[in-house]
Amino acid sequence: MKFGGTSVEDPAAIGRTAAIVAGRVAQGKNPIVVVSAMAKVTDQLLRAADAAATGDRAGALAISSRLRSRHRDTATELVKNREDGCALINMIDQEFDSLDEVLRGLAAILELTPRISDLIVSFGERLSSQIVTVAFRERGMNAAHVDAREIIITDSQFKRAIPQDEIIERKVPEKLLPLLHEGKVPVMGGFIASNEAGLTTTLGRGGSDFTGAIVGGAINAEAIEIWTDVDGIMTTDPRVCPDALRVKTISFEEAAELAYFGAKVLHPATILPAVKKNIPVLVLNSRNAACEGTRIVSLAPHCKSPFKSIAVKKKLSIIDLVASRMLMTHGYLRQIFEVFDKHKCPVDMVSTSEVSVSLTVDSNSHLPAIAADLSKLADVKYEGKKALVCMVGEDIRGQNGIAAQVFNAVRHINVRMISQGASEINMSFMIEEDDADEAVRSLHAAFFQEPDPTIFDVEARKQLSVVSGR
Ligand code: ASP
Ligand code: MG
Repeated sequence: MKFGGTSVEDPAAIGRTAAIVAGRVAQGKNPIVVVSAMAKVTDQLLRAADAAATGDRAGALAISSRLRSRHRDTATELVKNREDGCALINMIDQEFDSLDEVLRGLAAILELTPRISDLIVSFGERLSSQIVTVAFRERGMNAAHVDAREIIITDSQFKRAIPQDEIIERKVPEKLLPLLHEGKVPVMGGFIASNEAGLTTTLGRGGSDFTGAIVGGAINAEAIEIWTDVDGIMTTDPRVCPDALRVKTISFEEAAELAYFGAKVLHPATILPAVKKNIPVLVLNSRNAACEGTRIVSLAPHCKSPFKSIAVKKKLSIIDLVASRMLMTHGYLRQIFEVFDKHKCPVDMVSTSEVSVSLTVDSNSHLPAIAADLSKLADVKYEGKKALVCMVGEDIRGQNGIAAQVFNAVRHINVRMISQGASEINMSFMIEEDDADEAVRSLHAAFFQEPDPTIFDVEARKQLSVVSGR
């Protein structure tokens, strides 16, 4: 069971989380709990690190001091037992003392290396996991804290470390199975890990889901539950389109495709350890535990509508390259991609013709430098404020006329680039950011008018229409 930042953001959230886990224990399950840092803590730790690295020692320590109070207050409110409470506050103070030491050192050295950055952000999950453990104990669970860094072993690519599967497959059961056999509930931080030398690493932003899946995979869990603050994967963003429906079942492939395209529900790599072992992943809402959420499985049942979900990724830039030199040559695309590689800039979507290439990337500050390098190869133009609309569904395979329906639904909007993936389960196109919301509403109206009740939660929509009188 992995709980995200909002599921541990304050005493009330941690209380809800405890009740959910206790519920699983009462069902005779043996849960392992993975938690994120309390909401926004990772961002604030990174801000403290930046402040220290630019010489703003006082600013860095002020952020740390605010975080210390927040964690202390949370602990005090949650833990009424005096002995446990005192021990927990002591632990929190020790952690913050050592964080402050790192920040002071950083403010003297003025160089933030990826290694120090990982050390600093690791405090978020170290603290949240220990607070949650004691809070669980206070609520009658036999919880045992496990330092994730002892069992999630990675390489040394700080900030984006790669888990070493073989070691993890050995260490995770070695450490966790005995605890489960003793009837304990192991609680650990997500996202944080260590390299073989014992230095703290992290799995990349949002990496707690990944930890959840790695642990679930290594232990051959019955299921991996990702607890967040939404009801699951939706047909589209309900803030943009109030008609959005919960998707009850979706395939691994579809969910991965959506994750890549910015549906923030889960980390794309979550999918891999689960897929390999055929373990279902459930996305659930800790604010609405009664909701069944979304079940992600290897083979989704057939669905009457071609698409399961519409995702949008904003803040993109489009780069157009035109070069008549490209005509009939080879190796040209390689040269172009080498430029992106050099700048470590991921490319989202590519369209080519014989003499032109269009690519999309996240709008970023390296763009002028990238364009300068590309201009040695071709005429370059780049433009920001673009959005990528990505329609995902396995049932578009082999169906005729889907593209016509898609582009008919957005016929009033200027489409800049189109791609239908080799996976044949997604259809993506690029438009102006300002047109994105309108495009989503039109597409949703076109494809989810009569949703298949075996795949989508139509009950919620019915209830909504009763309430709103529609
Ligand atoms: N706390 C980390 C982050 O904010 C990891 C996570 O929450 O998944 O990126
Ligand atoms: Mg998260």
